[in-house]
Amino acid sequence: MPQTQHAPWERRSLAPVLPAVRPRKLAKVPFVELADGRLQGVVSSGSDIERVYVSSVTAGSHAYHCSTNNNRPCGGLRGAPCKHLHALLDEAVLQYGIARVGRYLRVDVPDGAQTGGDLLRALHGHHEPTPAAVVFSRFLRHLAYLELPAADGPLPELHWFPATGAGR
Ligand SMILES: [Zn+2]
Repeated sequence: MPQTQHAPWERRSLAPVLPAVRPRKLAKVPFVELADGRLQGVVSSGSDIERVYVSSVTAGSHAYHCSTNNNRPCGGLRGAPCKHLHALLDEAVLQYGIARVGRYLRVDVPDGAQTGGDLLRALHGHHEPTPAAVVFSRFLRHLAYLELPAADGPLPELHWFPATGAGR
């Protein structure tokens, strides 16, 4: 296509902003799995679309951790699970059901427990750093399997990812 002079309004229309499109609900916790003896997943930052957190809870010990995908510790971990861990637990309960998540983590699920928060309160672990890289690369591989329907525009959810990992 020949590059021609664009009128200013045309140029403006090329800005990578899609104000009308709300991110999918999935965008909050795009990846959650019970694997490697952990409940682990990727949680998007509430405030910054470019940032994601890798959160995990280890089965049995209930040690938990949260960091950015670059291994910077989450600022929300102050002797207690952060909001990303809450979001991860909530999503895991939606995805797998509270009984299965409880069994996997070896938690005594309290009677009447229904939410990720209920499960989180039943954990007895402490903070213990675990590397984010493995989970994050599994996430990128998982994304590669998702056949996105042919889309013309940029996908805001994919802006977090390094160009090397999620290419097609
Ligand atoms: Zn966090």
